[in-house]
Amino acid sequence: MNPVASAAIASWRFEPWLLLALVATAWIYLRGRRRLVRDLPERLPPWRGVCFVSGLAVFFVAVASPLDAFADLLLQVHMTQHFLLMMVAPPLLWLGRPELPLLHGLPHVARRDGLGPFLGWRVLHRVRAFLTHPVVCWLAFAGAMWIWHLPALYETALRDPFWHEAEHASFFFASLLFWFPVIQPWPSRPRWSRWMMVPYLFLASLQATAFSALFVFSGRVIYPVYANAPRLGGMSALEDQKIAGAVMWVPGSFVLLASTMLLVVSLLAPKLVRPGAPAVAAPIPNAPRRGTDVLRWPGIGAVLRARSGRAVMQVVLLLIAAVVIVDGFFGPQMGAMSLAGVVPWTYARAGIVIGLLLAGNLFCMACPFLLPRTVGRKFFAPSRAWPAVLRSKWFAVALFVLYLWGYEVFALWDSPLWTAWILLGYFVTAFVVDGLFKGASFCKYVCPIGQFNFVGSLISPLEVTVRSADACGTCTTQDCIRGREGAPGCELDLFLPAKVGNLDCTFCMDCVRACPHDNVGLLPRLPASELIVDPPRAGLGRLGARPDVAALALVVVFGAFVNAAGMVEPVVAGLQSVSSSLGFSSTAPAFTVFLLMTLIVLPLALAATGRWWGRLLIPELGGRTLLCRLALALVPLGMAMWADHFLFHLVTGAGAALPTSVRALGDVGMSTGPPDWSAAHSMAAPGDGFRSVQILLLDLGLLASLYLGWRVVRPGAERLSSALAALAPWATVASLLFVAGVWILFQPMEMRGMIMP
Ligand code: SF4
Ligand code: SF4
Repeated sequence: MNPVASAAIASWRFEPWLLLALVATAWIYLRGRRRLVRDLPERLPPWRGVCFVSGLAVFFVAVASPLDAFADLLLQVHMTQHFLLMMVAPPLLWLGRPELPLLHGLPHVARRDGLGPFLGWRVLHRVRAFLTHPVVCWLAFAGAMWIWHLPALYETALRDPFWHEAEHASFFFASLLFWFPVIQPWPSRPRWSRWMMVPYLFLASLQATAFSALFVFSGRVIYPVYANAPRLGGMSALEDQKIAGAVMWVPGSFVLLASTMLLVVSLLAPKLVRPGAPAVAAPIPNAPRRGTDVLRWPGIGAVLRARSGRAVMQVVLLLIAAVVIVDGFFGPQMGAMSLAGVVPWTYARAGIVIGLLLAGNLFCMACPFLLPRTVGRKFFAPSRAWPAVLRSKWFAVALFVLYLWGYEVFALWDSPLWTAWILLGYFVTAFVVDGLFKGASFCKYVCPIGQFNFVGSLISPLEVTVRSADACGTCTTQDCIRGREGAPGCELDLFLPAKVGNLDCTFCMDCVRACPHDNVGLLPRLPASELIVDPPRAGLGRLGARPDVAALALVVVFGAFVNAAGMVEPVVAGLQSVSSSLGFSSTAPAFTVFLLMTLIVLPLALAATGRWWGRLLIPELGGRTLLCRLALALVPLGMAMWADHFLFHLVTGAGAALPTSVRALGDVGMSTGPPDWSAAHSMAAPGDGFRSVQILLLDLGLLASLYLGWRVVRPGAERLSSALAALAPWATVASLLFVAGVWILFQPMEMRGMIMP
């Protein structure tokens, strides 16, 4: 056997006193837990017991495994040992909520006569209060880390076993203190607001980063003892030192960051319902099911229903958005080399459309823009109502057109700086709007992404809806919209029994948690079927009476073709030649006119013609109603074009994430080698198979739009011929858009924002 391996195996320390102490602690804990769990099962679920015992096991591995024996030879091994002692074992132990189980697990005599007299000591309480003060805990942790790593002390500890044990004891106990206010194990009470633990962990992360950086970037061996030690595996002392720094840096930051994330998630999760009231009323027996309910699927259903499920998704996207913003501001100003170019314009857009096609409004479900405002609302509640004059989609229509214009004129896909500003602006606007106004005003009336998602989710196969209409008929509380303590109702003003389809639904699942009868599900439905009929809808009324919603649908549909046309070479060349013949050096004026014509004039002409023609042919339905409903019928075609466009970017730019991430990591000193930019264009030319899929999508979109149009006009028309005639202008426009879409797909694409071979 390899001599190092056999030395490692032989170096396990099975010292009786250590084993006895750990086994006794585990036994006392488990005994006490068993007693307590009879009365307080919810306080000490099994996983907490697992955490505590795991914490003891990690402690044993840290101090008795070969890690200890090899700590004198390799700094990286010693740092691993410290990492286990400081970042793994203590939080696991506190997660076990050990205080009362350890107390109750002691033999009665020991508890009464041994510990009992001391427990009431005032001095003891004062000492405990002092030691568990967050400032003391933080300083103890940082102090132990820095002081013991001073070369003189560190080398003394390596030479002298007594000081070595003292060093490890300091690390372990200081870390127990550090993690105490973070985890705040029951039954202790926090001294500060739990939100203060976010800067607490952040500052700890900062100082740990500085500490690790010293090891990684130092050009000399900090501890001479390692320079003189026998070298294992041919690794130099300096290389060993760099790896040691990385051991503390990467996993250490991960633990602190993950803890911050979990903390924020737990703080954002609504608190328990009012005391004394059952959390959820009895489910309605035999409530009818409409197909499978995704919320009942194992795993995913639990995540979607959980109070913290949405918060976790939001925190993840928030972290990604933060990285994108930072890279947009400080990274290279070229879309294909920046996370601010690649993440939003290649991946996120395609992800949104794929989510809409396969499930529903998944982006709004995980929307990171709402996280700061949700945190803000913990401290101040908005009191104003959104201005009545803006309570429609007209403002959002204007913003959506503005976005399409800005996208082309400022070449947003290739401008990391602009992208970063837009993302930042998003966060600030959501915070300000929802900080000032009640309800979800930002989502409902402002956010262009949200409006796109609302329209797109008309063709989604899933819908948040009631499982049993009868159950709602007997419900007296209407908590799904009013909310109850700890479970807010629908902020988008969608009353579930009267909710039809997905418009305005952010898939936030608040109504699911608020319904006391467990009567709200995420159920399958025929995509776009909500457009065939037009009953009054909660929060929206009849769509036939909403020209603003129709206008939104039209700009989303026409926007799909205009946005895609803007990247094909003949259109770009045409705009350039018009611009230069008019004496303009940029294509912005020509593009502005193109956009005005295609996004405003053309849809307006269609709407006016459709209204007049519809009123003439089917007066019973009314021209406006027909116009509003037939505009929405074009949505499947529009979404097919968006999907074609964004999937094209996803396929051609799929390889960009890796070199861009490598580059970004290198920029922050975590280089993993030079980025391989060839990966960014490895799939730059999708083949005919992909184009067939694109055309198939367009085919399906056109068929669905024509079918929906037909279903809208036929019931109101007396004769087949008048129904066909009423549909004619819309069918003609849909067909023309389809032809334009196919033409676009066959044009040479400008591979904008990409690195070309
Ligand atoms: S509407 Fe906008 S802000 Fe609201 S959840 Fe959706 S993306 Fe987020
Ligand atoms: S109906 Fe309202 S509360 Fe329920 S998921 Fe949709 S937006 Fe959220």
